[in-house]
Amino acid sequence: MNKKLSKTTVSLEVMKQVIEERTHVLEELSNTDPLTKVANRRALFKRGNFELSRVNRTQNNLTLILLDCDFFKDFNDEFGHLVGDEVLIHICNICAKEIREIDFLGRYGGEEFLIILPDCDISGGLEIARRIQQSLANHCLPIKNKDVSMTLSIGLAMFDEKYQTFEQLINDADQAMYLAKENGRNRIEVYQDKNSQ
Ligand code: GH3
Ligand code: MG
Ligand code: MG
Repeated sequence: MNKKLSKTTVSLEVMKQVIEERTHVLEELSNTDPLTKVANRRALFKRGNFELSRVNRTQNNLTLILLDCDFFKDFNDEFGHLVGDEVLIHICNICAKEIREIDFLGRYGGEEFLIILPDCDISGGLEIARRIQQSLANHCLPIKNKDVSMTLSIGLAMFDEKYQTFEQLINDADQAMYLAKENGRNRIEVYQDKNSQ
């Protein structure tokens, strides 16, 4: 009887361990973009909301970088969707190398990426954005015997007390990114609050 019971306990322990491992794998999958392997939109919002509640408590800085590939549709049309996929992976690798350990990179949408920069002001954010822009320019992709480069339009916004939600901060980084598009692409722009001028 005792032998039987201890056998059941052991197998229950093993099952518990297997379930915990599988749960962990599933959790990772649900937070990861399958193409680029960076955080997905869901994970970005989770982290963004967490960082927002933290700055509300600590009064530290928090900056967002939104990056959008320039003329990506034309790129896909010229080189094919699979090559486009490779470029998205390449961009993520470059971003991952240029950000700090505490920063958080994720895929916001198709060819758009977000970087959450805790304890970072606009000048720190600009430094990181410039590093990414420079590194991308320095690392062309060899495609069909040509060195092909991709450029990004980049928008920055920094948290202050007027922001109630993470979405509002993204919205302003998005406005800055659109300004970078309007001003010629392959540029970095910072969101300026017109009401505070
Ligand atoms: P702009 O400079 O104004 O941003 O132009 P754009 O062509 O980058 O912008 P648009 O929004 O017209 O096109 C985005 C393209 O990104 C269209 C879509 O097919 C492509 N795209 C979105 N997700 C993926 C993906 O996972 N892989 C590939 N290869 N392309 C993607
Ligand atoms: Mg876009
Ligand atoms: Mg684009």
